[in-house]
This record gives sequence, C-alpha cells and structure tokens, in this order.
Amino acid sequence: MTTSVVIAVDGPVAAGKGTLARRLAEHFGYAYLDTGALYRAVGAKVLRQGGDPADPAVAAKAAESLDESDRAAPELRSEAVGLAASKVAAIPQVRAALLDFQRRFASHPPAGRAGAVLDGRDIGTVVCPDAPVKLFVIARDEVRAERRYRELMDKGEAVTFERVLADLRKRDEQDSARAAAPLKPAADAHLLDTSDLAIEAAVAAALEAVAAALKR
Ligand code: C5P
Repeated sequence: MTTSVVIAVDGPVAAGKGTLARRLAEHFGYAYLDTGALYRAVGAKVLRQGGDPADPAVAAKAAESLDESDRAAPELRSEAVGLAASKVAAIPQVRAALLDFQRRFASHPPAGRAGAVLDGRDIGTVVCPDAPVKLFVIARDEVRAERRYRELMDKGEAVTFERVLADLRKRDEQDSARAAAPLKPAADAHLLDTSDLAIEAAVAAALEAVAAALKR
C-alpha cells in the first residue's frame, strides 16, 4: 500500500518534459526520476562494449546488469547515445528489466518524499497507468530541434541543425512505431504544447494542469 502521489510526464524528444518534471518535483518537494537516463545508460553500455544496441540478447544483458556507475556515464546526453537508447528501448526484455525500478521509485520515492515525478515516454500508459496526474508535453519539430541543437552546441558537440532535426524525427518515429510501450499520450493525459511558451510560462501551465488534475 502506498500513498505516494505520482506525476507522469511523457512526450517526444526535447519537448521540455525534463525541465517541467524537474520544476514540478521541486515545487511539490517530490522525488524526480528521468527514466530516459535508464535507457540511455543501457544504450551507452552496449556501445561501450562494442555491441549492437538493436541486438535483443546483448541489450537485455546490459539492462539486467545496470548499476549506478552506468547511470552516471559522462556520455549519456550525447546524440549517439540517444539513438542507441531508442534502439534498446524497443526491446521488450530491456523494458521489462527496467520496469520494477521505475514502479518502486514511484510508489516508494527516496528520502521519504510524499510523491514522485517521472518523465519518459510510457509513464502514463505503462509504468504508472494509475497516476493521478499525467502530462503529455509536445512542441513543434523545429522548436524542439532548435532547443536540442543549442543544448548540444553548448556542450561542444559538432552538430548541424538539420542533423539534429533529422535525428529527432528518426527517434520519435522509432519510439512511436514500436510495439512495446510506444510513445503516445494516455487517454486521460493533459496535452501541453510548449512551442510558444518560455520556460516560466510553461511551468505555470504545467502547475495549473496538475492542480486541475488533483481536483478531479
Ligand atoms: O528522454 P530521453 O530522450 O533521454 O530518452 C532516450 C530514449 O529512451 C527515448 O528516445 C526512448 O526511446 C527511450 N525511453 C523510453 N521510455 C521511457 C523513457 C525513454 O522508451 N520511459
């Protein structure tokens, strides 16, 4: 039995869900879990071993043996690791290996927090389908690509805007088309379009949506 309040934040690449989820967690004093980092850690581990992220046996083994040091790998936020993450994420055994950890985090947030905010692709549909609050964050492709491009440039990655836009579309396509827990809004999710919103306005809109959902 748990009384933890769970806020599910899903959406495609660079729609702003990470920033919003973090801010919501801060606002409510809840724990925060970036579930994409788990898939990234699996993808990075396979790449480090010289393996193929699309190979189910290799990826499942990496997911089942994931530890703290994998989750802290310095290359986690790179484009290459993002694409590898999207490949391992399509493999059901990989998803199964990561499911318990995510559900446990949601139901028993660390440090005795009263709730948890999880961001990802399938939190509202698969990981926590009973979450009282579900946000699905979207933004136009070009806006998302621009944000991601700036982020990568800031980190010194040699990328072009066109490449980032193409990678982002490829990753969304892979994530939406897969059979296992595809990227899609839960039927009861609140859609939040951040295309024309600055960060503070998006946070305000998210807080409003959370308040409305908790009142229902
Ligand atoms: O959110 P982020 O871009 O870091 O996620 C990396 C990849 O991990 C996504 O493209 C997606 O394939 C996968 N993922 C997932 N389910 C989640 C979170 C991430 O399939 N809950």
